[in-house]
Amino acid sequence: MQEQNQDINQKRDYTRKNQDINNQDNNQDIESDSIRAFAYLCPQCGKIALAARDSFALLASNWNPACSCGKSNLNIQFDGSFFHFQVPCGLCGEIHAASCTPDRILKATAAFNCPNTGDFCCFAGDAKQIQKRLPELESLSLSLSRAAENNQNNNLNQNASPFLNDIIMYEILSELRDIAARPNGIQCQCGSKLYKMRVRRASVDFICQDCGGRLRIPAASDQDLDDLCCHMRLVIPGKSL
Ligand SMILES: [Zn+2]
Ligand SMILES: [Zn+2]
Ligand SMILES: [Zn+2]
Repeated sequence: MQEQNQDINQKRDYTRKNQDINNQDNNQDIESDSIRAFAYLCPQCGKIALAARDSFALLASNWNPACSCGKSNLNIQFDGSFFHFQVPCGLCGEIHAASCTPDRILKATAAFNCPNTGDFCCFAGDAKQIQKRLPELESLSLSLSRAAENNQNNNLNQNASPFLNDIIMYEILSELRDIAARPNGIQCQCGSKLYKMRVRRASVDFICQDCGGRLRIPAASDQDLDDLCCHMRLVIPGKSL
């Protein structure tokens, strides 16, 4: 309540001063200084959300400035002693609660950090100061979108290929072709030379068509390839034996 009274006094002083000096330019300077700015990283679109409001309006009522995407908004409340913020966090996706004295917002600049990542996710206060801090938020937003892009690319690669490791699978299949081309290269313990080959995500199966015996060749790692290259021939363990 004391803070509010101070502000009312300030307003009175300023009105009196204004009447005394009767200077329009001076009036505009004070007006622009009373504008407080807010910036946060939007968790929905990944961009920086910016908003500004007059000090008196901030003290007078709650405010929910939204990001230009319309999918997230800051919540600012003044309870007569403290400002309370609900900050949608673009770094971790949670909503963080923060409080501070009116002076920190009205006469300086407050920076709130994400408790999960330790980086600043919201600035509130002097517009010029915030403008200077924006590159911090911008570089965070850039590295986050790069990380998201990488994840997406990895997912796309995984979706595009049915194999765990394309290169290893290619090498394994080419090695198996060589082995199969040798006389009696692949045969079953039961004596059969008829088999089916089934290529899986991270292995290749050989199934004897006579006894149903099965041999699995792992095809996921360099080690799997090395192991296979030791073999001149492959023998399917027969089921009846
Ligand atoms: Zn947004
Ligand atoms: Zn966070
Ligand atoms: Zn067999």
